[in-house]
Amino acid sequence: MIIQLQENIEEHSYQEILDKIDGVGYKHNEISTQYGKYLVCIGKKDFDIRRIGSLAGIKDIHRVSDAYKLVSSKWKVGKTAVPISEDLAVGNGDFQIMAGPCSIEGEAQVRSTIQHLLENNIKIMRGGVYKPRSSPYSFRGLGIDGLKMWHEQTQEAGIKIVTEVMQVSQIESMLPYVDIFQVGARNSQNFNLLDALGEIDKPILLKRGMSGTIDELLQAAEYIFSNGNEKIILCERGIRTYEKAYRNTMDINAVILLKEKSHLPVVVDPSHGIGLRDHVSRLALAGVMAGADGVIMEVHHEPEKAFSDGQQTLNYQQSGRLIDAMHKTRELALTI
Ligand code: PEP
Ligand code: MN
Repeated sequence: MIIQLQENIEEHSYQEILDKIDGVGYKHNEISTQYGKYLVCIGKKDFDIRRIGSLAGIKDIHRVSDAYKLVSSKWKVGKTAVPISEDLAVGNGDFQIMAGPCSIEGEAQVRSTIQHLLENNIKIMRGGVYKPRSSPYSFRGLGIDGLKMWHEQTQEAGIKIVTEVMQVSQIESMLPYVDIFQVGARNSQNFNLLDALGEIDKPILLKRGMSGTIDELLQAAEYIFSNGNEKIILCERGIRTYEKAYRNTMDINAVILLKEKSHLPVVVDPSHGIGLRDHVSRLALAGVMAGADGVIMEVHHEPEKAFSDGQQTLNYQQSGRLIDAMHKTRELALTI
């Protein structure tokens, strides 16, 4: 059961609500976010929620049987738009393309990517400065200095930054330079990281774990929300299956189901979703048709020379064509 409290609830009304919850044998969790105050109440007994719903100080009350609560569409029926900046949002009708290299490599690469984004009216640039790599000997990113250099250039161009944070200790130093914090697939159930990202007021792009279920992704999102941050974007980036013909299996079904089960926006990452450059575009369009609120994709001026994930990275020509096709596909997706 979720109870949304009125902003200006009086102390005695609040106490009365807690006593009633206690009286029906439910345990309560107090949640306070940048947008509201909630009581998430957990219990088994069936009772008439009007007994609590009619009390003073309550804005809304819902029974939610899912393991995840605040991110559930049973709680919030309308769709959520996550604001990125004053004039930019993802979800509830706002579709965004996020493009850029797998890794930030240097100034010239950043400058060239920004130019490509500007030419295609893309407002959000992706790139990693802390890279989770399977081998410790692979390129692991330029770190905070790379992020500062990147940020300086995007500022001039009015482009927003989405980049991965790998551990709690990195958050504070990254905060001034990041517009959306990405939680990578390998960290999708790093609950300490999710807790900490719940305490900041910045959008989080939460990727699905390599072997994470839809429910597990939504419960990971619940960690962030329940710690105080409602600005969450879910990301389907492919899961590991028995199939070896491609890097991952992008679960298009998950896009449809996530949009049904949650009010949060969902984006797709077709680059990691298939891992094969020549097929990224079709997969991206499939994601758009499935109802994604955005696409995050890897683009590089010379994919063959990229420091990481070149095999799944589009060149500018492929990227430009795909961007046009995505806008057309989006129009079609909206008709069904
Ligand atoms: C990435 O975005 O480059 C990345 C490492 O993603 P994922 O966590 O989905 O593998
Ligand atoms: Mn990558």
